[in-house]
Amino acid sequence: MKVLFLQQNITVITMVLFSEDHIQETKRRGRIEVICGSMFSGKTEELIRRLKRAKFARQRVEIFKPAIDTRYSEADVVSHEGHSISSTPIDSSGSILLFTSEIDVVGIDEAQFFDAGLVDVCNQLANNGVRVIVAGLDMDFRGVPFGPMPGLCAIADEVSKVHAICVKCGQLASFSHRTVKNDKQVMLGETAEYEPLCRECYLQALEADKQEE
Ligand code: ZN
Repeated sequence: MKVLFLQQNITVITMVLFSEDHIQETKRRGRIEVICGSMFSGKTEELIRRLKRAKFARQRVEIFKPAIDTRYSEADVVSHEGHSISSTPIDSSGSILLFTSEIDVVGIDEAQFFDAGLVDVCNQLANNGVRVIVAGLDMDFRGVPFGPMPGLCAIADEVSKVHAICVKCGQLASFSHRTVKNDKQVMLGETAEYEPLCRECYLQALEADKQEE
């Protein structure tokens, strides 16, 4: 029984490593990878990690982000941890196709802010043999699927849902609670405006917000 348990454990570990590291960086094969989650879940960190590995493997990499996202830097994709990689800010998803001839790997950050056309663009790229890695918020502050993210998750070959830690109770957090009053969906911000919460704490926070109104 003990041996069986051990074997099962090893199988599980092997599978995790498989999905994490088995992608051969130098093999040109079209695929779509989506990294989604709440604010502070490490999405951009994971995107940068994958793109840097592709660069080490001498892949031709191009990174895009919506022109709207100018939080830290005009042209760089920067994670909360301060890691960065240079990128091209663009206004509409269609422009990605103009920049991606002779490219092996396309990275897209803050994908939730792009138009619905991004789903088609990613499909076209992958169909042409490009590895597409997309990172974005899966839900807005109301808990509603954000922009093209649900469509991207549907067409992806692989979806990684990453989690932040609930600042109220320490569980895994999937929700981005807005701590200031503002109904606009697009509102970029840092720790002051959002906090990651688990479902239970998020519902409690919404209830508390309502009573304040
Ligand atoms: Zn919680």
